[in-house]
Amino acid sequence: MSAPHEEQVQDELLVVDQLQKHFPITNALGKTINNVRAVDSVSFTLKRKQTLGIVGESGCGKSTTGRTLLRLIEPTGGKAVYKGQDLFSLEGKELMKMRREMQMIFQDPHSSINPKQRVGNAVEEPMVIHRLYSGKDRMTRAMDLLAKVGLREDQYFRFPHEFSGGQRQRIGIARALAVNPEIIVCDEPVSALDVSIQSQVINLMQDIQDEFDLAYIFIAHDLSVVRHIADEVGVMYLGNLVEKAETDELYKHPLHPYTQALLSSIPSSSPSIKKERITLKGDLPSPIDPPNGCKFHTRCPHVMNVCKEIAPEFKHVSSEHGVACHLY
Ligand code: SF4
Repeated sequence: MSAPHEEQVQDELLVVDQLQKHFPITNALGKTINNVRAVDSVSFTLKRKQTLGIVGESGCGKSTTGRTLLRLIEPTGGKAVYKGQDLFSLEGKELMKMRREMQMIFQDPHSSINPKQRVGNAVEEPMVIHRLYSGKDRMTRAMDLLAKVGLREDQYFRFPHEFSGGQRQRIGIARALAVNPEIIVCDEPVSALDVSIQSQVINLMQDIQDEFDLAYIFIAHDLSVVRHIADEVGVMYLGNLVEKAETDELYKHPLHPYTQALLSSIPSSSPSIKKERITLKGDLPSPIDPPNGCKFHTRCPHVMNVCKEIAPEFKHVSSEHGVACHLY
């Protein structure tokens, strides 16, 4: 029988440590004069079949985190270990294998599907790239996947413009599933959809997760959507992960003042429950020249002198809850 620690390590699919992605700003001579610090310090562990939600305002670096982990863009620093392998040093066949096992669903599936391609061919395309299945089997699999995501097999022959936004997202999901991934990075997958369609797509994603044993990194700005699907939630602010906890714990006991402000803006589910809304002063500072110390100090209702000088370390206050704030 394996020891509990061994089981826990085997359960770890992706371990991300101090991930950084900076985009250089160059002058007319091509010399780097500054950097956009899109992702500055992000660490987390994604377990098999788990859903990790990553939330934060637009521009906080959550999408860049997802894209960097898929090596769609190269990292500036930090480490990511996927199934025991250093993700950022993979090359050739190993990189290709990782690309098959880690797929992405985009906010706007329209942008990832060729409008001139029949949707069946769009679902088959990743299988062609990764040389999976023969021609006839690919077609059968694409039809099966379309049925699995709630479309009809005969819709294989239709074009993307003949589908609604929700149906196009279903096609995007079928396309991601085509190559048997282990992780899917879902980048705002339901943000562009009507609320009623959102819940249908989320329910579909949950069913598919169970059936295909998938792990999700679910990126979103809407905290109520994330609560519904995530096992654990990380909150990002200006390129840093500032709080992470199991979902119920985070929503019931938010510790970071930024998380508290985000949660206070979600409308209450019952008119009898009155919530005090925390309004943050100022705008999100620029990631080109972020504030010293705690990056949130320019907007924080609890700011102290130390916050302006020293960046708080990310600390665990319990086994299931970590936060980067001098209050703890
Ligand atoms: Fe606010 Fe200070 Fe905590 Fe930053 S470290 S969130 S400024 S109290």
